[in-house]
Amino acid sequence: QKPVTAATPAAVRTAVAADDRQDPTPDAIGYEAYRAQGGYRLLDELLSGRREVPATIQALTDSGLRGLGGAGFPLGRKWAIVGAQAAPRLLAINIDEGEPGTFKDRHYLERDPHRFLEGALIAAHCVGVAAIYIYLRDEYAGCRALLQRELELLRAARPDAPEIHLRRGAGAYVCGEESAMIESLEGKRGWPRQRPPYLAEVGLFGRPTLEHNMETLHWVREILERGADWFAAQGRRGRKGLRSFSLSGRVNRPGMHVAPAGISLRELVDEYGGGMQDGHELYGYFPGGASGGIFPASMADLPLDFDTLQPHGCFIGSAAIIVFSQADRARELALNAMEFFEHESCGQCTPCREGTQRAVQLMRAPTWDVELMDELSQVMMDASICGLGQAAPNPLRSALRYFPQEFA
Ligand code: SF4
Repeated sequence: QKPVTAATPAAVRTAVAADDRQDPTPDAIGYEAYRAQGGYRLLDELLSGRREVPATIQALTDSGLRGLGGAGFPLGRKWAIVGAQAAPRLLAINIDEGEPGTFKDRHYLERDPHRFLEGALIAAHCVGVAAIYIYLRDEYAGCRALLQRELELLRAARPDAPEIHLRRGAGAYVCGEESAMIESLEGKRGWPRQRPPYLAEVGLFGRPTLEHNMETLHWVREILERGADWFAAQGRRGRKGLRSFSLSGRVNRPGMHVAPAGISLRELVDEYGGGMQDGHELYGYFPGGASGGIFPASMADLPLDFDTLQPHGCFIGSAAIIVFSQADRARELALNAMEFFEHESCGQCTPCREGTQRAVQLMRAPTWDVELMDELSQVMMDASICGLGQAAPNPLRSALRYFPQEFA
């Protein structure tokens, strides 16, 4: 990731610092302790036929669980689509977690790694997967050591389970994009693929591939044990389920907070984040990391969930919420985000490679050429191959739209 410097705006500095801390020695629930708490019981029920696959998939569908890496694709539908493809099928698990301000996967991984591993083995059984590939952010060195240890124990205890391969990323943000991750897993340069074909049809090593963010699989056990109705009932304002918010910035209690889907930013800060820090008033927030755009304080009552923010030009993505105050400027935060995208653009396509560079130049000028920026943003959104280039203009566009006072 781009290094944090003194010039990095304070709100972003806090978020990135939280993401890049040295990994502590994890104090995690190991294999035996997880078993003792009823872990792998659901998997055993499935393997012995005491629990049926269609009912399992139906329960997960009814819960409303969606992909938690950012795209929000319904889990039940994904399993059905991949399960209908020709064998051998593969499962790829994304733990690249490179979106600035996001640290939820690491939170779960370093505390309870078997929960997502059981979810992965349940998915593998329900979809008929031959092998599992885990793609882990290389900066998570402590988590890697933990996973290596626990995978060995798991293999020894369950020699008949599908092979689980642990692969290291190499620090490229774009490898969090599912098709770039697949390329990287294949040992190639992490360049996003053109789609179609989709990964469900032609994925890892050319095989149909079920791709999941780690957190999505983390919830499988809890939903199956407590019931689809329990999970679905957790949301607010008609939304279903729980979300793991990575909250950072000018709040008293930054960190990972599990809160109802559909909660508003104001409620999240007040009920979970301990309110704003002394001397700071809410001025705005990033609802979805660097790529999700920027909202002003006047929009702090919007429900934070999939589908809600898009009409306003922003999205929630992996639920990385960065809160900023009157001490920060949306204009500087937008520039910082664009510099990040310029640094992380893989360079494969012109609209993103050249567009992010040109946008940074324009945004560093004392006066923003709004017409030219609009035109450039449109080309990047329309013609970039992957989500990085398509979403890169979000902070720029939303800063112009929601913080006009900074550009007067
Ligand atoms: Fe690479 Fe950017 Fe094009 Fe994505 S949009 S393929 S990151 S150059």
